[in-house]
Amino acid sequence: MRTKRFQATPEPSKSLKTSAVIYIRVSSKEQQQEGFSLDAQLKLLMDYAQKRNLEVLATYLDVESAKCPGRSEFGRLVSFLQAQAKLPQDKCLCRTVLVEKTDRFYRNLQDLTTIRNLGVTIHLAKESQVISPDSKSHETFSHGLNVLIAERFSNNLSEEVKKGMLEKAQQGLWPSSAPVGYLNVEGPNRKKIIQPDPVRAPLIKLMFEFYAKGNNSLKDAGEEASRIGLAHRKSGNKLNKSALYDVLTNPIYYGDFHWMGITYNGTHEPIITKELFDKVQRTMDRRSSCPTGRQSRDFQFQGVMTCSYCGCAMVAEIKKEKYVYYHCTGNKGKCPGKYAREELIDQQFAQSLGQISIDNDVIKWIVSVMQRSTAEDRRQQEEQLKSLSQQKQRLEDRLDTMYGDKLDNVITEDDYKRRSNKFRGELSDIKFKMEQLGQGKGENIDSAVRLLELSQKAASLYLKQIPSEKRELLNLVYSNSTFGSGELRPNFRKPFDLLAVTNMEYQRQKATSHGKSDLFEKWYARQDSNLRPTA
Ligand SMILES: [Zn+2]
Repeated sequence: MRTKRFQATPEPSKSLKTSAVIYIRVSSKEQQQEGFSLDAQLKLLMDYAQKRNLEVLATYLDVESAKCPGRSEFGRLVSFLQAQAKLPQDKCLCRTVLVEKTDRFYRNLQDLTTIRNLGVTIHLAKESQVISPDSKSHETFSHGLNVLIAERFSNNLSEEVKKGMLEKAQQGLWPSSAPVGYLNVEGPNRKKIIQPDPVRAPLIKLMFEFYAKGNNSLKDAGEEASRIGLAHRKSGNKLNKSALYDVLTNPIYYGDFHWMGITYNGTHEPIITKELFDKVQRTMDRRSSCPTGRQSRDFQFQGVMTCSYCGCAMVAEIKKEKYVYYHCTGNKGKCPGKYAREELIDQQFAQSLGQISIDNDVIKWIVSVMQRSTAEDRRQQEEQLKSLSQQKQRLEDRLDTMYGDKLDNVITEDDYKRRSNKFRGELSDIKFKMEQLGQGKGENIDSAVRLLELSQKAASLYLKQIPSEKRELLNLVYSNSTFGSGELRPNFRKPFDLLAVTNMEYQRQKATSHGKSDLFEKWYARQDSNLRPTA
């Protein structure tokens, strides 16, 4: 970089305003909520621009609805910046974008790459971050990470999280509909909890005791279940073998439960003891390894992968009464795929899961980065709550006065009804908004931490899990994996794909680095290095 050593005039940058454009996105649903509206975002960004001495050239607005998820303005913003980039430097007006926060700007990593390739400076007003082509690598990393998290919360995997289910699970509350033997009821503080179903819980206990004897197969258990009248609560259908298997291996009956691949200590009332449960698991293991019990065998990779030759499903088959083999169904005609032993696939999944096993210190660092932006969110939420509760108080005062007026015959009964109804409507709107605000905050960070922890533990969890749990975990972490010629081609779901790539790079550098102090720095620089030739 060339600099003039002596300057007769003051630095021009101090008097010249930098030009910027604003990008705003809201969903039509959010638009109805206080503090999320276009106006609120616009005001925040205009104030920000003024404080930073930025001149706003244009504003791009996207309102997304369920019907119309497109982001036409985002596309126009990108075209504008691309056109600017082609101009000679003295003609180039604008290299700066102002946005509220990360998840307002990018919806996925593709967007991030698009913007990064433009080489522009991005101000994230709420996150107090400025990302530019000259940013330090750790800033770029944390920015990328925020995008990753924003993306996680917009894909299907996040549905459970959005509903607050994960949060419930973390509190030891089973977050979904009650398994047979339990009922969903309203507990203290109006929380939805589960409690033993007075009719079916004793029957569930009988089933555990029946199977624990050791000389009964799942088929026998099925017959016993219909004899004692154990059936599905809603449908009244009998429990088939696989449903019984699910019951007999579900830890929820002694007090723990699995949710999204993690076991939580439940706060609900158990139906059986842990001892009885363990006894049943041992019986089950013994029976599944002996030929006569093979029907109870649960095939852990069924539905997890497809044939890499022809795309057909891979199905399991028992050979010589004990070995489990997988092979292509060959539904699309003759397939060159060969049979593969279950153990071989098992090993390869375990190895692949090792790729997303993240170091503790990395998780700690990531969490601290996220906590910073959450604190800011919380502050804003408190401000909104304060303003809403003031509005609420005003409305309640008015209603009080009006009631007094009615009693004093200052206003007629009809007037009172009409006007008070209007105020009550407004009041219930405000209460609704307040409830909405109280929900789900801080959830993002908790779920991100859970995600990272899950990622970290996946490989070791996997080795200990029973087949149905393995399948659940694999379906959570992978999709569209294929198998052929004895080789598994695992395909991570988002965001595990990015975690895997980044983590592998980190581990590689860790292994070769001598000075450990700047290890993070090196890892986070990875994102920059994508744009530059490697040294
Ligand atoms: Zn095939």
